[in-house]
Order: sequence, then structure tokens, then C-alpha cells
Amino acid sequence: MRIIHHFIGGIFTACQTERQSDVFNPATGEVSASVLLGGKSEVDLAVAAARKAWPAWAETAPLKRARILAKFKELIEKHHDDLALCITREHGKVLQDARGEVTRGLEVVEFATGAPHLLKTAYTDNIGGDIDHWNLRQPLGVCAGITPFNFPFMVPLWMIPMALATGNTFVLKPSERDPSASLMIADLLAQAGLPDGVFNVVQGDKQAVDALLQHPDVAAVSFVGSTPIAQYVHREGTLRGKRVQALGGAKNHLVVMPDADIDQAVDALIGAAYGSAGERCRAISVAVAVGDVADELVARVADKVRVLNIGSGEEASSEMGPLVTAAHRDKVEGYIEKGVQEGARLVIDGRQHACRNTAGFFTGGTLFDDVTPAMQIYREEIFGPVLSVVRVASLAEAVDLINAHEFGNGVSVYTASGAVAREFTRRVQIGMVGVNVPIPVPMAWHSFGGWKRSLFGDHHAYGEEGIRFYTRYKSVMQRWPDGSRQGPEFTMPVAK
Ligand code: NAD
Repeated sequence: MRIIHHFIGGIFTACQTERQSDVFNPATGEVSASVLLGGKSEVDLAVAAARKAWPAWAETAPLKRARILAKFKELIEKHHDDLALCITREHGKVLQDARGEVTRGLEVVEFATGAPHLLKTAYTDNIGGDIDHWNLRQPLGVCAGITPFNFPFMVPLWMIPMALATGNTFVLKPSERDPSASLMIADLLAQAGLPDGVFNVVQGDKQAVDALLQHPDVAAVSFVGSTPIAQYVHREGTLRGKRVQALGGAKNHLVVMPDADIDQAVDALIGAAYGSAGERCRAISVAVAVGDVADELVARVADKVRVLNIGSGEEASSEMGPLVTAAHRDKVEGYIEKGVQEGARLVIDGRQHACRNTAGFFTGGTLFDDVTPAMQIYREEIFGPVLSVVRVASLAEAVDLINAHEFGNGVSVYTASGAVAREFTRRVQIGMVGVNVPIPVPMAWHSFGGWKRSLFGDHHAYGEEGIRFYTRYKSVMQRWPDGSRQGPEFTMPVAK
């Protein structure tokens, strides 16, 4: 059995870890490896390695740090297909989608190679009295990242390049469900010339997370995962004086206005609801049909869900792969049962799909109509290939519906009207908005994050927000003595 190790101080190591957990190939249902589950002692070792490496790394010129990241980017490009295959074999998503994940992670590395420019700050010559004034952004120290299963490569790369480029050292605690990508990242960073200890991986679960949250030498924690854990990490981390950004769960709506291009809206819904088996924080899980567009929309989406090509992510013909584990598949199917009991109209039942008869963790695409805001299948994140249609009478009703939801990650509107689009984007209380774009994932030089219970903390991920999160602001005022004598001043300094 292949054992998935930690990576501490430049060494792949088992430490003294005894606890382990199975890692599956979701397409076959077979156990493919066993991941070590570290705890306090492994976290202590990793943080000590990162603490030791920090002073030299923080003093390394930003340009030199950026050159290592540039080399890392080249290596990612060289191993693009291996990385994608590694993701598909543990997560289950189709290979083409996994390739896209690698590309989106690589783009953050590319952005971070601009750190020398991004760390440039403002300078004011002569604020008065021969004093010049400027500011610095300095690294925080040892930073930790805790990441979810659904993007085992991209989400760690929302954090790692930003933290390293700005002069921090890093300990990653990846998801225990698809941990292999974390070690490929470690290997490629080492090949790129990153000094030992600057980047470390502790495999594990809650025990490792708690050890990171409690460790006095961890200065900052970036978390991405479900809302209850995000809230927990944010509370526990900030209570201990750490800087924390914690991105949580989602329930993303796509509003279809009567004037929308219906072909485009249907394609958008199919891709965004069933792509990656709905296991994306930016998946669309609610279609909001406005006015008389509903009947046609439901009928046409249903036609496409019926012919979804479901199979192993390694098959080129597959459009949708399995869910990550049998337990997660059962949870998703539990929601389908709940929806039926709540009185939603089950248009297509994914539990009846032929893929359900294989050993992999498959379920078919499910479509519900006549879903209401009171239903649990509307209120809660299902994180599977289940699309709910809610019917409303007007744009205002659609916006009120969305704003009343506890999550605020992403949203989209399909319309031909600029006025509708403008009204929608201004009024909707959501962090990322698409207009005729189903999954508006901000590019690397913008920043990613939701509102409400989809993000705890002040900073969105990567981009300029990432630079701010991983650095501390310092303001400097400087005067060089010229020999003049003015005597002490006892009043508030003002520009002279
Ligand atoms: P999860 O919350 O179960 O796990 C996330 C991380 O927390 C993992 O590393 C896991 O080991 C750890 N963890 C799990 N239980 C814990 C506990 N009790 N205490 C401390 N740590 C714990 O999330 P997941 O199932 O891996 O990922 C799916 C979730 O992530 C979805 O809710 C999805 O919306 C969310 N997500 C959000 C974003 C975003 O940008 N907002 C992006 C990707 C995923």
C-alpha cells in the first residue's frame, strides 16, 4: 500500500505518525493509498522547520524569491498532465477539468512572480520639516493553509505563492481525501530551489488543524472549506491572536430573465451545476427562473441532464465523474430523498441512473422544480450534481431571494438588458457576480471571496487582497539630522 507522507524541513517523512486514513480512486471505489494523519507532534516539527527557515527567507530579496516561483511555474507547466491525472485519480473530476484546475493554480504562481512590483509601496517626499514618509509591507512569519478536497491543487496555490513571494514560510494541511497533489507541490517547489523548511506539509484531519490553530508560532491561517469549519477556524485562530481568512460554503444562484438567450442559459446551467459533479464552491445549485421562462427552461435543462455522459474522469468522453467518497455520495442522495419529502418536484432522479450500478462513487444528475426557500434542499449546501429550480415573478423578487440566503459566494444573471444587469450587480449581496457568465472565478490579479457566511475575515484570497493578507503594513517617517537645533516640541506634529 502506498503511504502518503508529510513533508517537513525538506524531507518526505512518516514522523512517528500512527493514525492513517484510506484514500480512494472514486471512479473504481478501490483504496489507492493510505494517508498519514498527523497531530500535535508533526505540527510542532513542521512549524519549527518553518520558523527556522523564516529569517533567511524573509531577508531574501523579493526578486530572488520570485525567480524560484518562476522556476516552480515552469515545472508545473512541464508536469501539467501528471498533476491533472493525480487530481482525477483521487478527486474523480474529469481530466479536462483537472487540467483547468492546474492552469488556474499556475496563474496565481504567475501573478506572485510579480511580487517585487507588488511589494512596492508609496513614498511622500518631504511631508514637512525635511521629513520623508513611506510605508513598507513586511512578512508575518510562519503561515498555515488548510484546504478542502474539491481543488487539491488550485486552492493550496491560492495561498502558497502569495505567502512565499511576500517572505513568509508555510505549513500546508491539505484535505485527507485527496492529499497526493500536496506532495507534488512540495516536490516541484524543492526542484525549483526553495530552501528546506520554507514550505512544509502536514497530512491530517481535525487534530492537525487544531494543533496549527493552537501553535503560538503560527502567525496567520488561510482556510478554505465548509462554513461550519471556516467559522470554527476563524474564531479559534483570531482568539489566539492570529490573522485568519476563512472561506466557507456556498449556494450559488443563476437568475434567468425572460429576455435571456435561452440556449446560453441552459448550457450555462448544465456546465455549472453538473461540472465536477457539483463539487465546486462556485457550482450553480439554484436556477432562479423569472416570469414565464420557467417551463421552457426546466424542460430544456432536463433534456440535457438525461443525456449527461457520466463515467470515469480518465475517459475522454466523460462529462461528469463520480463523487469523492461513498459517504459523500450517500449524503448527496440523502438530500434528494429530503427534497422529495419536502414536496419539491423531482424531474430527474440521479439515484436511478445506470452509473449507480458500478463500484465507483457515482450518482446521476438530479433536477428539482418548484423548490421553495423554506426547503432544506434550498437552504443547505448539497455539494453534488443536484440543481433546484425556484420560480419567481420579477427581478426584484429574485434579488430579495438571493440576498436572504445565508451564503454569499457567487451569483449569475442571464439577460439581454444592460439595465437589468446593472440593477442586479449593484443590489445583490454576493461577493462574485457574473453577467451572462455562469462561474465568475476572479483571475489571479483580482481576488476571490464571498460575502456573508461564505467568508470570515477581512481579506479575499490571492491578488492584491492576498498581498495585504500575507504582509503587515508599516509606516516610516525619516529625517536626517542636518545640525540645526529647534528645541523640544510639545504639540501635535503638523506639516510645516
Ligand atoms: P471541510 O470543511 O470538510 O474540510 C476542509 C478542511 O478542514 C480539510 O482540510 C479538513 O481536513 C479540515 N476539517 C474537516 N473537519 C474539521 C474539523 N471538524 N475541525 C477542523 N478541521 C476540519 O470541506 P471539504 O468537504 O473538504 O470541501 C468542501 C467545502 O469547501 C464546501 O463547503 C465548499 O463550498 C467549500 N469550498 C469553499 C471555497 C470558497 O472559496 N469559498 C472553495 C472551495 C471549497
